[in-house]
Amino acid sequence: MSSRETKTDVILIGAGIMSATLGTLLKELAPEWEIKVFEKLANAGEESSNVWNNAGTGHAALCELNYTPEKPDGSVDISKAIKINEQFQVSLQFWSYLVNSNLIRNPQDFIRPIPHMSLVQGEKNVTFLKKRFKALSRNPLFQGMEFSDDPEKLKEWIPLIMEGRTSNEPIAATKIDSGTDVNFGALTRMLFDHLKSKNVEINYKHSVKDIKRTSDGSWKVKVHDIDSGKIEYHTAKFVFIGGGGGSLPLLQKTGIPESKHIGGFPVSGLFMVCNNPEVVAQHHAKVYGKAKVGAPPMSVPHLDTRYIDNKKSLLFGPFAGFSPKFLKTGSNFDLIRSIKPNNVLTMLAAGVKEMALTKYLIQQVMLSNEKRMEELREFIPNAKIEDWDIVVAGQRVQVIKDTEAGGKGTLQFGTEVVSASDGSIAALLGASPGASTSVHVMLEVLEKCFAQHMKEWEPKIKEMIPSYGVSLVENPELLHEIHTSTAKTLGLSDKELVIS
Ligand SMILES: Cc1cc2nc3c(=O)[nH]c(=O)nc-3n(C[C@H](O)[C@H](O)[C@H](O)COP(=O)(O)OP(=O)(O)OC[C@H]3O[C@@H](n4cnc5c(N)ncnc54)[C@H](O)[C@@H]3O)c2cc1C
Repeated sequence: MSSRETKTDVILIGAGIMSATLGTLLKELAPEWEIKVFEKLANAGEESSNVWNNAGTGHAALCELNYTPEKPDGSVDISKAIKINEQFQVSLQFWSYLVNSNLIRNPQDFIRPIPHMSLVQGEKNVTFLKKRFKALSRNPLFQGMEFSDDPEKLKEWIPLIMEGRTSNEPIAATKIDSGTDVNFGALTRMLFDHLKSKNVEINYKHSVKDIKRTSDGSWKVKVHDIDSGKIEYHTAKFVFIGGGGGSLPLLQKTGIPESKHIGGFPVSGLFMVCNNPEVVAQHHAKVYGKAKVGAPPMSVPHLDTRYIDNKKSLLFGPFAGFSPKFLKTGSNFDLIRSIKPNNVLTMLAAGVKEMALTKYLIQQVMLSNEKRMEELREFIPNAKIEDWDIVVAGQRVQVIKDTEAGGKGTLQFGTEVVSASDGSIAALLGASPGASTSVHVMLEVLEKCFAQHMKEWEPKIKEMIPSYGVSLVENPELLHEIHTSTAKTLGLSDKELVIS
């Protein structure tokens, strides 16, 4: 039985960081628009955006070696690192605007400064890291990065990692103090609190079951009220599918041509978390290593200082694995149900191509605790099994699609916006770099879906994000200004960045 039918301007499906960001941007740009949110869980930021479900790295390409591949001629390609760093600067500016405008408070509750480091062992890897350092440190976005292959210096930077290390293999690291740890779950909740204060209707325990186009081009969303068991119908001119791993099945229900020939490849994850405060106190950095040969980019091991519930914590991982669920709270039938006549060939092609990856992920699931400890001991040689517990991380659903470069059924590792040609509906698929670039990605949604408003909105967007539409690499003065002001507002550093 239907209990409610409403009409509204905007519907946001899912209460993760993406819907939170889009809702907040829209409330600044078009305050008079009516927005409704439907979330199947009891609170905001409980799935991938939850602090325990992701690594909390403010991805700015300061330490992630997979963003700077080595080219066949031996040089290091830093173009992706530049792109991701610029996108993170967009997030920092928007969050600073929200703090300065008193729309959210206490930035230390969601963002903290933490050195970002890359660590490698072996001659070949050390040579690569040195080249990477040279290429990046010439660029204004990466100013302040240091390199060392001196074990004494490394002992100062990462005592826990250097203690008990017996190997004579060359070892080197880079370190940059402008890195961050972000609690995306806390930020998501802050943004939804703000939206609630602006009369946005947020319906928790409301699961979206179907999305259909109406005769006037709007979208009718069928919603199950979990507590009452009733079905509701809500119509909107614009719908954003921000369901995280749950976005693909909802996008498929829209039937738009852009939803066809796309599949999802779920990857699960585990973190090891240190329960010994003495060990936690000995480390202060996010230290990223190199992915093992054949391992996917999301399984790059890292040893991270995190701030969880205002407490300093130490996590290692993530260990990637295979699970057919699209959400941590999802169903074991998610993968099978996502196979449709229009994407079966794409999925089959990916299945054949990614056999090695699937095998790798299944092997990872089967790893014993002792095997996981062996991987941890590559970072902390003296690690003791009793100091570490296991926590289950969030699910990532990587996009599978047909591409010109990769052919049928190519696995994508990025974040992708899929939208209808008339801009009336958009969905966010994919994972990394994900939450860190949420503001950039939601601006992309605005550009694709509200092209007719962009001219009118541009001055406000520039007020919120001064670098909007401008390359920071080409404008070092603006970069300096932004870096100094966002660091001050967000409490990230009292050190001035010197642009040479
Ligand atoms: C192991 C791991 C590590 C990661 N590390 C990082 C990192 O270090 N840095 C970084 O920036 N990013 C990281 N990410 C990625 C980041 O977590 C995601 O990009 C981001 O949280 C996605 O936000 P979202 O709003 O799209 O999804 P979510 O936070 O998952 O929110 C989606 C919401 O939609 C709801 N929903 C789904 N289906 C329905 C439905 N039918 N009806 C109603 N509601 C629905 C869900 O319950 C959920 O609350 C990591 C992810 C994982 C899994």
